Amino acid sequence: MYNMPDKKGHFGPYGGVFASETLIYALTELKNAYEHYRNDPEFDKEWRDELKHYVGRPSPIYWCRRLSEVTGGAQIYLKREDLNHTGAHKINNTMGQALLARRMGKKRVIAETGAGQHGVATATVAARYGMKCCVYMGAEDIERQAPNVTRMKLLGAEVRPVTTGSGTLKDALNEAMRDWVTNVDDTFYIIGTVAGPAPYPEMVRNFNAIVSEECLTQFPELTGGDPDYIVAAVGGGSNAIGAFYHYIDRPNVKLIGVEAAGLGLLSGKHCASIECGKPGVLHGNRTYLLQDKDGQITPAYSISAGLDYPGVGPEHSYLADIGRAEYVGITDDEAMDAFQKLCHIEGIIPALESSHALAYALKLAPTLPKDKKILVNLSGRGDKDLGIVTKYLKAHEGEEK
Ligand SMILES: *Cc1c(COP(=O)(O)O)cnc(C)c1O
Repeated sequence: MYNMPDKKGHFGPYGGVFASETLIYALTELKNAYEHYRNDPEFDKEWRDELKHYVGRPSPIYWCRRLSEVTGGAQIYLKREDLNHTGAHKINNTMGQALLARRMGKKRVIAETGAGQHGVATATVAARYGMKCCVYMGAEDIERQAPNVTRMKLLGAEVRPVTTGSGTLKDALNEAMRDWVTNVDDTFYIIGTVAGPAPYPEMVRNFNAIVSEECLTQFPELTGGDPDYIVAAVGGGSNAIGAFYHYIDRPNVKLIGVEAAGLGLLSGKHCASIECGKPGVLHGNRTYLLQDKDGQITPAYSISAGLDYPGVGPEHSYLADIGRAEYVGITDDEAMDAFQKLCHIEGIIPALESSHALAYALKLAPTLPKDKKILVNLSGRGDKDLGIVTKYLKAHEGEEK
C-alpha cells in the first residue's frame, strides 16, 4: 500500500521541513492540530457537508463524445472541477484549511497568490466564516491580474502588494511566511498547492484527494471500469495529486502530469521543473526546481499564470523518480489549440492550466484504440483567462496551424 509521506513529511528524498527556528513553532502547532482533526469524524463530516452544499460537490464526470470522435482513438472524459464554486479545484483545499483554522481558534487567515486564484478561494472561505483575510500578492501580479484583485476586495480581503525581489509569487510567499511568524497566535497561513514545508504537501493533497475519491465510484458507474489514463496539469501539483491519489495503488491506471513547456523545453522559457529541473530546496521543502548551474532559481514562464512556478510539489518529484507517474510538457501553442477545440466542439471554456492537460490527451488519444479511456482533470473554468486568450488570438490571427 502506498503510504507517503513518512512521519517527518518525506516523500523519499523530497519534502521535509527546511525552515528557520521561528517557523518551526508555527509548523509544529499546525502539524499537531492537523494530526488530531484529520482523524476526527466530526471535522470530516463538516468538511464534506460544506463541499456538498457550498462548493457544489460531487463534480460530474463528462464524456466528450464529439471531441473523442473528431480526435480519433481513445475516449476522452473530463472531471468537471471547473463547476465548483469559484470555478476551480482550489476551494477543496481552502475550505479544509479554513475549517482547521476555526478549530484551532484562529481569527485571521493569510495567503499568497500569483495569478490570484488561490487568493480568491481563500477570500471566499474567509468571508464564509467571518475571518479576517490578508492576501500577499506581487506588485507585478496585481497589475497583470486586476479582475482577481477586484474579486478579493469585494469578498472583504485586504490585498497587500509585495515589491521586494521580482514582485511575483515567490516574493509574496516569503512575505506571507514573515507575517505568519509574527502573528502566529491569531493567524493561520493557507498555502494553495502541495508545496511548502511539511505538513502542507500532505494536508493539501488530502483535501484535494476528494477528486479521485469521487472518481473511484463515478467512473465505473459511467463506463463499467477504471480509466486507463488520468491526465492533469501540474503547477505546484495540487489538482494533479488530487486526481491521482486514490489510483496510486492501481497500476493499470497510468498517471500523467502535464507541465507547461511554454515556448518549448529548449527555449528556457517554461516551467517544466521535473523534466528540466534539478533537486534543491525552496519554500521549505526539497524538490525538483528550475535552477541555473550555480543553484540560483531561474524564472518560470507559461501563458497560463497558474502554472508559472519554478518548483513542484515534492510528492510529484517522488512519483516521477519511482516511475509511478510520468511527466510531459505541453507548449503555449498546444494548450491554446486544445482550449479552442473544447470551446468549439463541447461548449466548455476551460482554464488555460487545464487546457495543458487536455492538449496532452488530444495527442495521446489517436495513438490508442477506441475502447481505451482517458480521464482529464479539468481543474478550472476559463473566464479568468479571456484577456490573455484575446491577446493571443489577435497576435496569431491568420496563422496556419
Ligand atoms: C492554480 C491552478 C492550477 C495549478 O495549481 P496546481 O496546484 O498545480 O493544481 C491548475 N488549474 C487551475 C484552474 C488553477 O487555478
